[in-house]
Amino acid sequence: MTDCIFCKIAAKQIPSQAIYEDEDVLAFKDINPAAPVHFLIIPKQHVATLSQCDASHTAILGKMLSLVPKLAQEQGCGVAVDAAGAAAGGYKTLINSGPDGGQEVYHLHLHVIGGPHPWRGQRSPL
Ligand code: 5GP
Ligand code: ZN
Repeated sequence: MTDCIFCKIAAKQIPSQAIYEDEDVLAFKDINPAAPVHFLIIPKQHVATLSQCDASHTAILGKMLSLVPKLAQEQGCGVAVDAAGAAAGGYKTLINSGPDGGQEVYHLHLHVIGGPHPWRGQRSPL
């Protein structure tokens, strides 16, 4: 996809603040963060939107989602549960799909949005 901004980020033609990379995915900080912690996880291969995914995308979608706990922990918004069962920290995971879903960039991406209650008092962080 020659004109896709996230393909260009994945190919290092546009710089980003990467926090994780392997052969299949890249995670990088959102340029316009909605919260103290806000990063995106993308497949390196172009997929326009979640709505175009099917069973053939199970592995990449699973990889993207299963990276969230580790990366959220590293970025400082992991969930801690103490011995009494009280939880602290946390984040939202979000995939916007299509115009009515608020998707602006048509390369599949998973938002991780965290920090101290960034969405408090709001119905939705984005
Ligand atoms: P969407 O609305 O499509 O779910 O989210 C797109 C996200 O990509 C937005 O949060 C926006 O700030 C982020 N974004 C758009 N362009 C760039 C860019 O060039 N670099 C980075 N790091 N983030 C971007
Ligand atoms: Zn792309």
